[in-house]
Amino acid sequence: MTTAAHVDAVTDPLLAATASRLARSHRRHGDDLDRCMAGCGERWPCTRARTADRAAVAARGPWHKAWTIRHDLAAAGVPLGAVW
Ligand SMILES: [Zn+2]
Repeated sequence: MTTAAHVDAVTDPLLAATASRLARSHRRHGDDLDRCMAGCGERWPCTRARTADRAAVAARGPWHKAWTIRHDLAAAGVPLGAVW
C-alpha cells in the first residue's frame, strides 16, 4: 500500500538539498514576473529553475531518476549540496 508519506519520502537527500538551493536562488523576480531573481538573463522560468523542479521530483523517486538529474546538474556545472 502506498501512503502520502511514502510518496513524499526523500530518497536522495543531497539531490533534494541541491534542488532547494537552486529553487531559492532562481526564483521569480518580485518586480518583473518574466525575470529570474538570480539575474541569469533567462526568461522565467529559467533553465536552472526548471532543473530545480525536476531535481526536487527526482529526489523523491526511484534511484535511476535521481541518477539522471545528477548527471544533468554536473553537466550544467551545478555542484551537489545545500551550500557552495
Ligand atoms: Zn535563473
